[in-house]
Amino acid sequence: MQVIESVAVFRKAHAVAAKPLGLVPTMGFLHEGHMALIHRARKENGTVAVSIFVNPTQFGPSEDFETYPRDMDADLAHLDDAGVDLVFAPPIEEVYPLGFDTFVDVGRVGERLEGQHRTGHFRGVATIVCKLLTIVRPDRAYFGQKDAQQCLVVKRLNADLNLGAEIVVCPTVRDPDGLALSSRNVYLSRSEREAALSLHRSLTLARQLHSQGENDADMVKRRMGELITAYPAANIDYISIADAENLTELDIIDRPALVSLAVRIGRTRLIDNVIL
Ligand code: AMP
Repeated sequence: MQVIESVAVFRKAHAVAAKPLGLVPTMGFLHEGHMALIHRARKENGTVAVSIFVNPTQFGPSEDFETYPRDMDADLAHLDDAGVDLVFAPPIEEVYPLGFDTFVDVGRVGERLEGQHRTGHFRGVATIVCKLLTIVRPDRAYFGQKDAQQCLVVKRLNADLNLGAEIVVCPTVRDPDGLALSSRNVYLSRSEREAALSLHRSLTLARQLHSQGENDADMVKRRMGELITAYPAANIDYISIADAENLTELDIIDRPALVSLAVRIGRTRLIDNVIL
């Protein structure tokens, strides 16, 4: 496994790498959710590249960029075990050199939900993903359904800027009790972790109500909200039931719908979703 910090060296490695090349972009502190993407990429490609970069431009000024969990040694050991070929782990100056002043803005699909609650977040995401796809030039790039809106933003970006990768979306990996794996779960105390189950439980309730014939989106959102607010540690940022393709909010659930939510548990903000 080759660990590369510079764009120039990565370009050379790309030239001699077996194709197709699969890329899994991450911010590190790897867990089984990341590893599922990596195992899938390993099965489908001649070369697997993983990027590890905590991208400052996707964090708001009051967010956790400084304290975001990092453990490069453990990450590299996991990647080596998984048979990864190339790790791209650039320092910040390599990605954003002095004078950097070009950003990518994805339109409507990035403006709602997370885009509305985390100003500038998707501008940072789209910019770094655009840079990674142009530096690494993968045939396939793997993303998790856990970040459903990010997947839509990346697909739009990839199509609109002719970046030429196949975008592969992989299912959300969960702990046995349903909590979606996230690097931020390490922030949770034992009692907060219990409250964090409210996300998955409310999504399960939504699925149940819908399968029983309930198609009034407000009614489903109200029941989800009641379930979550029963946990005193949980504060809802938003609950949304939206068209799964363009994310416009639905009154009636009459087409494939993304049920998504963001909830603050103490100081930790968690997101999760299901498709109906
Ligand atoms: P991150 O390091 O949080 O930026 O995540 C890197 C990639 O892993 C993104 O495409 C995420 O959607 C994906 N990912 C994170 N958590 C999970 C999970 N629990 N299941 C599946 N994919 C995940």
